Amino acid sequence: MDEKSKTLRLEVITPDTSVFNDDVEFVLVRALDGDLGIMPNHAPLIASLSIWPLTYTKNGTEKQISVAKGFLEVSGNKVTVVTPAAELPENIDVKRAQAAKERAERRLENKAENIDVERAELALRRALLRLDVVKTFSGK
Ligand code: ATP
Repeated sequence: MDEKSKTLRLEVITPDTSVFNDDVEFVLVRALDGDLGIMPNHAPLIASLSIWPLTYTKNGTEKQISVAKGFLEVSGNKVTVVTPAAELPENIDVKRAQAAKERAERRLENKAENIDVERAELALRRALLRLDVVKTFSGK
């Protein structure tokens, strides 16, 4: 029988690029029906993801990637996340996220304006996600 692996491969893919591809010890995501922790040698699985930080552990250190929806597949000791948008903390443009947050908040506050509320709420959640991941990364 194969020896059990102590790591698993994590790959995060967007329509533009592969954001992350490395061996890690643990992956934690928020699926639509709750949190999902994935250790090496996990059984095959498919889940739909929320707008939430993906947390992974590498060499005993926890790090985060912002992931805005998409799918996760676990198969053959590999976790593949396919998502419309994902960013490493160091690639998040804070000013842009702050501007997106303020824009969405303005739209939601201004009831007179004929806006798509769900779209504004999703934009706000993406902006808050990015600001949260940057904050955790910079330790503030
Ligand atoms: P914005 O209104 O600023 O475009 P958004 O939430 O509508 O924000 P998305 O549609 O989620 O943006 O993403 C479009 C692309 O831009 C994706 O590739 C995403 O990774 C990137 N992106 C969005 N916001 C940021 C940010 N603050 N920093 C870095 N990349 C970002």
